[in-house]
Amino acid sequence: MDGYNRDGDLKPMDAEQFREHAHKMVDFIADYYKTIENFPVLSQVQPGYLRNMLPDSAPNHPESLDDIFNDVQAKILPGVTHWQSPNYFAYYPSNSSIAGFLGEMLSAGLNIVGFSWITSPAATELEMIVLDWLAKLLKLPDEFLSAGQGGGVIQGTASEAVLVVLLAARDKVLRRLGKNALEKIVVYASDQTHSALQKACQIAGIHPENCRLLKTESSTNYALSPDILCEAIAHDVAIGLVPFFLCATVGTTSSTAVDPLLALGKIAKSNGMWFHVDAAYAGSACICPEYRQYIDGVEEADSFNMNAHKWFLTNFDCSALWVKDRTALVQSLSTNPEFLKNKASQENMVVDYKDWQIPLGRRFRSLKLWMVLRLYGIENLQCYIRNHIKLAEHFEGLIAQDPRFEVVTPRIFSLVCFCLLPPRNNEDNGNKLNNDLLEAINSTGKIFISHTVLSGKYILRFAVGAPLTEERHVTAAWKVLQDEASVLLGRL
Ligand SMILES: *Cc1c(COP(=O)(O)O)cnc(C)c1O
Repeated sequence: MDGYNRDGDLKPMDAEQFREHAHKMVDFIADYYKTIENFPVLSQVQPGYLRNMLPDSAPNHPESLDDIFNDVQAKILPGVTHWQSPNYFAYYPSNSSIAGFLGEMLSAGLNIVGFSWITSPAATELEMIVLDWLAKLLKLPDEFLSAGQGGGVIQGTASEAVLVVLLAARDKVLRRLGKNALEKIVVYASDQTHSALQKACQIAGIHPENCRLLKTESSTNYALSPDILCEAIAHDVAIGLVPFFLCATVGTTSSTAVDPLLALGKIAKSNGMWFHVDAAYAGSACICPEYRQYIDGVEEADSFNMNAHKWFLTNFDCSALWVKDRTALVQSLSTNPEFLKNKASQENMVVDYKDWQIPLGRRFRSLKLWMVLRLYGIENLQCYIRNHIKLAEHFEGLIAQDPRFEVVTPRIFSLVCFCLLPPRNNEDNGNKLNNDLLEAINSTGKIFISHTVLSGKYILRFAVGAPLTEERHVTAAWKVLQDEASVLLGRL
């Protein structure tokens, strides 16, 4: 670019221009955080809103950063849903933090592409070390540490994590039975399992009828029953099918149900199946000794996943996956083209993370997790989790004081599932009422919550976990819910 741009134009990599512009960007983001409560939490724009506000094509000549900031204020922020708002209680949280942001910034600054060890030895080695740290913090079995046959890897998302282990498990069983057995191999999970598993099955070519999503009940809080799993496996074996993969969840997306890992793991093992544990959201809580019990039985697992980008102060994306047998992953996902050959890889002296994931290229994401662990430290991270759980308890306590509402499933972590009860003799079973309440709440812009359906009932979800949320926000959110409920009930 140098040589044909005009003086004063922004160059790609001038250090002083970078300093000036990046400082402005940091100021902009700091001001955004400071005023984040002024925005409607859920964006209130209509589909297609942006098309008429922006030109049809890119500019021929450079524009100024100030002009762009003006557009961000006027045109982009209205179309943003503010996940970092303290009044954000929808889905699950997606934490930002100063430490996570700094790691993200450094990763963007170095901008390496760390597919093989040689492309940036620090990227591979830091990832191995930091995932060992996190594994120890979660008290995962030693087989998940990088010193042995296993190890950890950062994937983009829990969806990629379950896909890569499903592929590894599929290829392992097909090496034994021959490729023709693809039609016969069966996956098991509960009907509460994240849809990411279903997508992984589609991609992996699992026969659509061989993905068993086993029914769960409210009486067992939507956990997968070992008896029902045994029955399903026995039935499939009797008709000549081959069980090969079990996915359990600790903290389901609907209601934080916890599958009994120990019992399920033993069944998987005795049937020669791969056992994957998805703890995308709740895994973070297990760094606290008092919540570690929820992953008791993880010793039986072949792979374990938690999203540091949900509730662990690590900016999206950063999904930690551990496996006991890294060879299984590599056998499914490795390639060795001439142009990537190098001494360290050829001599098997190093980990090449390209063979543990779907893409070739990968970012230096371990910097984020490393910064989070170092700048906050274990004790503060534990306090952080405990505080959110305490706030969820506080919300639960508020619900208990209002007979018009009811908590639907027992709260375990920082998600409260609840509903507004329909008045007696009302023809609606409550589903329309709660859907109306959700719409009314979210269109106030004051808070954002989401919903699920459990046993055919429309349920509201209140997930605490944004870094800025304090007790006053939870109390105010409850007031919004009560006020909107009064309006709706008054109209019936
Ligand atoms: C959020 C979540 C997922 C999906 O996470 P991604 O990282 O977006 O793929 C999967 N499983 C559970 C239990 C989750 O809570």
